[in-house]
Parts: sequence; structure tokens; C-alpha cells
Amino acid sequence: MVIDANSEDALNGHTAGIHHRNTGKQEHELPSRFVCQMCGICIATSEGLVEARDDVVVFNQLYPADLAKAQANKTVQCPGCGQALGTRADSVSMLRKDRVLTRLERLEILVCSLKQQEISDMVPVLQGAFPHSNVSTRVLQKAELRGFQLSAAKPCPDFVVVVHRNEGRALLTDRNGFYHDVLGSAWQQTRGNVLVVLTRTEPKADAELFDSQLLRSLSTQGDQPTIGAMSSLGRVLTWEFSPSKPQLKQLQVLTAKAYFREPPPVVQGIPGQWSKHPPKAVPSAWCSLL
Ligand SMILES: [Zn+2]
Repeated sequence: MVIDANSEDALNGHTAGIHHRNTGKQEHELPSRFVCQMCGICIATSEGLVEARDDVVVFNQLYPADLAKAQANKTVQCPGCGQALGTRADSVSMLRKDRVLTRLERLEILVCSLKQQEISDMVPVLQGAFPHSNVSTRVLQKAELRGFQLSAAKPCPDFVVVVHRNEGRALLTDRNGFYHDVLGSAWQQTRGNVLVVLTRTEPKADAELFDSQLLRSLSTQGDQPTIGAMSSLGRVLTWEFSPSKPQLKQLQVLTAKAYFREPPPVVQGIPGQWSKHPPKAVPSAWCSLL
């Protein structure tokens, strides 16, 4: 969306807080996001907003809060793409309005599966985990999976969920996996805000997020190391028909991460290609990339 750091909504938003997320009143209480115009990573929220001046927006804290500590110099750099966003002085940061966009929109979630039923089951689960969201869906065709690009997906997703009904051999990632290119493209566009859900697969222990035995064997004997790496990031969940309490909690964690577009951690085992930055965005239209 277009820069509008002066908007009433953005300024009023700073009384809001994410702390109430679990009270059921989340809908109107999420702080709005200020994102890097180049890469879309969240730099600050309305909670830290002090005021908007002519060409800068002033914050008394950035997001995440330790960003300030990590960068001791006077220039505020985007942790995602490295571009200079503004300057620091005393206890405030002044970010340039032409480099930081306000996003007041909901979280955009895209759910994909080969099966419509899995999509229909997943949508209400995601809406429950993160009510401040729009969920789009897409039934995948096997024939389109090789070389799949998440192009023309509008609105562009912040979070992509791939649901697979586990019937027999689970071919998910790498050379023979159905979803390798889907996940790669989604990983690139959302900077790692991706989740794989296997249904008809109960975790072996109550507190487990996924069937660790299955994931271990897929990753070490099934020639699918990438799904193993994703599971170590907490980005694989397995359940029979519906998520357990710990899994719901994990969904809330992952959707919140996606909402704020945290820079992804560097992880062993995630293909290098996936972590490459998508082509440079045109200012004010970084969404149109997708
Ligand atoms: Zn950036």
C-alpha cells in the first residue's frame, strides 16, 4: 500500500498492543506494521510510534526491540535487505517516509493442497489461530508442481501453508517431492514464512508438534533432507484430523511471525536458492511482485 504514515489509523494505533492476542479481542488490537519498502520486513510497529514529521516517522522503539542493540551506529539499516532506512539520535529513530511503508492490512494467508477437503478443514483452524487475517486458497494440480512459481497470487501472501494428506509414501520435498518448488517459491516470497501440515498423521507423543519418527526417516532415509530442516524450525505439523493444543499455539507463533515479517533465521538444510532475495521490488508496489 502507499505510504501514509500520517494517517489517523496509524497514529491512533499506538495505543493498541499485541499483548491481548489471546483474549479474543485481537481483531482491533494488533499494532499496525511499518515495513521496509524494499523487502517488506517489519521494522517498527505503531506501538513505538512517536510522531510523523515532514519526511520522517519518529519511533522510540523499533521492531524487534533488540534491533537497536544490534546496530550500534547512527544509521538504521534494514535487517532484511540492508538498505539504510533512517537515522538514530538519542533514544529515537527517524525513518524516512520514502523507505518505510505503513501496512494496516490483515495477515494474508494462502493455503494450498492437492485436495480441496484438506483446504476446507484448514481454513477455520487458521482463522481461529489468527483472526486478523484473510485466507485465500488454491487447489494444486500435480501437473503444475514442477517449476511452480507463486506468481500472480493476489493479494500477495504473508504466510503460505501447504497441507498434504498423508496416504502412504509421503513425497514432500527435494528431488522426488511434490511440493519442493511450491515451498521454494513460497519461501522466497514470504522469507521463510511457510508451514507444511501433514494430515492423517498423528504425532507419537501428546506434546509433539509432529511425528518425529516419520520426519526423521523422511529426512535421513527418504532422501528428503529439506522437510527435516523445516521441521527443526517448527514449520512442519502433523495431525490426524485436527491440531492439538501445542500445535494451535505453534500456529499462533508462526502467524504472528509472518504478520511482523521477522527476518528468517539462517538454517542448515534449507536450500540456498530458497533464501535468495526475490527480484528487487518497485517502491510502493512490493506486493505486485507476486
Ligand atoms: Zn529491507
